[in-house]
Amino acid sequence: MNELDTGDQDKGTREIRINPIVPTESVLIATARSMRPQKAEDAAPRDTRKHVERCPFCRGNEDKTPPEITRIPEQGEWAIRIVENLYPVLGDDRQSPNLIFGLQQAINGYGRHEVIVDHSQHGIAIHEMSPEHLSLLFQTYQSRMKQLYDTDKRLKYVLIFKNFGPAAGASMAHTHSQIIATPVIPQNVQDEVEHSKKYYEKHQHCIFCTLVDEALTYEATIYDRDSGEVVRKINVGQYVVERGKHFIAIKPFASRYEWEVHILPLVHKSDFINASREELDDFANVLKRTMQRLDAVIGGAQYNYFLHTIPLDKQYDDCQNSYHWHLEICPRTSIPSGFELGSGLFVNTVSPEDAAVQLSNVVLDEE
Ligand code: AMP
Ligand code: ZN
Ligand code: ZN
Repeated sequence: MNELDTGDQDKGTREIRINPIVPTESVLIATARSMRPQKAEDAAPRDTRKHVERCPFCRGNEDKTPPEITRIPEQGEWAIRIVENLYPVLGDDRQSPNLIFGLQQAINGYGRHEVIVDHSQHGIAIHEMSPEHLSLLFQTYQSRMKQLYDTDKRLKYVLIFKNFGPAAGASMAHTHSQIIATPVIPQNVQDEVEHSKKYYEKHQHCIFCTLVDEALTYEATIYDRDSGEVVRKINVGQYVVERGKHFIAIKPFASRYEWEVHILPLVHKSDFINASREELDDFANVLKRTMQRLDAVIGGAQYNYFLHTIPLDKQYDDCQNSYHWHLEICPRTSIPSGFELGSGLFVNTVSPEDAAVQLSNVVLDEE
């Protein structure tokens, strides 16, 4: 007897979704059991210790990091520190010059790589931090970005990101984020800026604002490209995971990662640096609640988050109306396979609609 029972296999959804912001990027939504790629390392129990004697990021071990760039508050016990990275991936410009040899090209690895110790408590997760602390953390990101742009004109982009958990590439258990400032604009940011500019030229409207509007208002109909027949109707509002006064957390229709969520200003804003204190307070609440939802659904989320904001270069002045800053949160629940590396197609095994329902159904305590 054939042991391969193909009869009752869960066929699930199988469709390729195009990222509306960067149409060159697409995602295969494949929810059938057989398509499920290898799971990321089994959720290792999270290190929830408050203080670790030998951790260079814990209070009392300040001499175990390279020089401190800033601490908040400046006096008394610190809540957040920014330090030079002990093993920077980019550094000063005494390194090799630009080089071209036939098709081989190398650009000098000039830039800055700094570590932000997000909190003095070793194992605290974002969803456990107070909204006041989270607002302070994002204000700290903001002022360091500004300082770097103001003091080094060679820097074209300051990328802020966080790795949390080994599955997200974090080598240090103490909660931290990082700053990488480069003399070139990262390709992902360029792609978003340029594609959204094209959309603006065509529709005189920001594509991110359009996505927010859709999430808040419309029902969408999906048509078959060839026959024009209605394939299905979806309630786009179902993608809203969390909402504050100034910010919204959305599950992207073409999510690359199973539990990916983006947080954006509700009203058009291109530059994170200009976010007001009141806005960041609201952002902190939306972030905390979003992370609480993720933690409740996937338990001990290991994730990367990163901030995308308009590059400061003059060349992008005309993108103020078309680019919209946001935070992308990418929980890592599976390991990319050869198919993903070879094709450039992301494989997502949880339908974004199901994920959005699960996330928004979590009942949170009101603060
Ligand atoms: P992650 O990439 O999430 O593992 O980030 C940890 C970062 O901390 C890495 O970029 C390390 O180079 C950096 N790092 C490790 N130990 C120290 C230390 N004692 N002081 C400053 N940075 C460190
Ligand atoms: Zn620590
Ligand atoms: Zn916008």
